[in-house]
Amino acid sequence: MILQRLELDFFRNYVHVEADFAPGVNVIWGDNAQGKTNLLEAAAYLSSAKSHRARYDRELIQFGVDHAFLKGEVLSRQRQFTLEARLHRGERRQLLSNGVKLKTAGELGEVFNTILFCPEDLSLIRAGAAERRRFLDDAICQLRPKYAAALGEYRRLYDQKTRILRDWEEKPSLLDTLDDFNLRMAQVGAVLIHYRAHFVKRLSALAPPIQGDFSGGREKLTLGYETVSTVTDPEAPPKTILEQLLEHQQSHRRAELESRQCLSGPHKDDLAVNIDGQSARQFASQGQTRTAALSLKLACRELFQEDTGEWPVLLLDDVLSELDARRQAFVLERIDGGQVLITCCEEDKTVPTDGKRFQVKGGTLV
Ligand code: ATP
Ligand code: MG
Repeated sequence: MILQRLELDFFRNYVHVEADFAPGVNVIWGDNAQGKTNLLEAAAYLSSAKSHRARYDRELIQFGVDHAFLKGEVLSRQRQFTLEARLHRGERRQLLSNGVKLKTAGELGEVFNTILFCPEDLSLIRAGAAERRRFLDDAICQLRPKYAAALGEYRRLYDQKTRILRDWEEKPSLLDTLDDFNLRMAQVGAVLIHYRAHFVKRLSALAPPIQGDFSGGREKLTLGYETVSTVTDPEAPPKTILEQLLEHQQSHRRAELESRQCLSGPHKDDLAVNIDGQSARQFASQGQTRTAALSLKLACRELFQEDTGEWPVLLLDDVLSELDARRQAFVLERIDGGQVLITCCEEDKTVPTDGKRFQVKGGTLV
């Protein structure tokens, strides 16, 4: 898929901008704080209605203005789509595809997918399990609408069960519904585990060769899916997993009531990332951490391509400045295939490209 054109009004520091991108590599360069990341953020928003660095949509609207418009012309599955997001302060956002209002953000992902890599992604390796779960969830949601629905339901159930556990001593009648919640959570949880296990399996085939190439064959990356301890085979059909989840719930029932917390279920899952057999989180160097995070993202991109026959648009924010020349050359070679928007500073603006170069200056494209 190709983002042919992006148009923004009052998005972050852009009053109005129109960019026509090339199908290959687009280099976006400029000084700090000019709007390079904002441009990638806008492209990513049109694929997911989410920003990697804004918690609320209102942060995306220009200071002192009450609305922001984003519009993208996307070529996907040999068809032309116009995607729009209209943000108004204090109102619900509107998402449109070819002028038709969308009901969910997930519908954007059926047309347009992006993979973003940014400096904050080091936390994918360094931070706690929540960060890696989010990575898995975001990627699988984009590929599998069924998973997105299950995840949404699981989160609602989790919140409700947490409330029961928090308040049961004051209101013992709440416990009457606990078994129903437990059963439904185990059913939906089994679906999540099944999907996650299959996704990690495929990622495990794609990411290690990338890390290997990156490091000149010196570093061996391995991935592992860690879930509820009673689950013997997370790739098994959800029906099998369900029994094992119920077993785990049963043995943790007392502890949950006493601690007043939800202790059993896949909301504590993790993706173990190891380099040469050691936990990357604990032992990887800066460079290895960066490379491992990038390998995961590039593997995701390849997995998307395998699944859908289309390359998602790759958004690389500030990736080159952090890498030595050999790794830079490797990135540029590896990303060959789909469309790429890559930001860099003045010094790296000459990276070779078959596409276009844009200079960003104070919220305008020069
Ligand atoms: P760097 O090279 O440092 O990463 P950048 O070019 O990527 O810089 P951006 O992160 O895109 O810079 O941000 C550019 C500017 O946008 C910042 O100065 C920031 O203050 C401004 N900005 C962010 N949000 C808004 C907003 N809602 N309204 C107006 N300006 C904003
Ligand atoms: Mg930036």
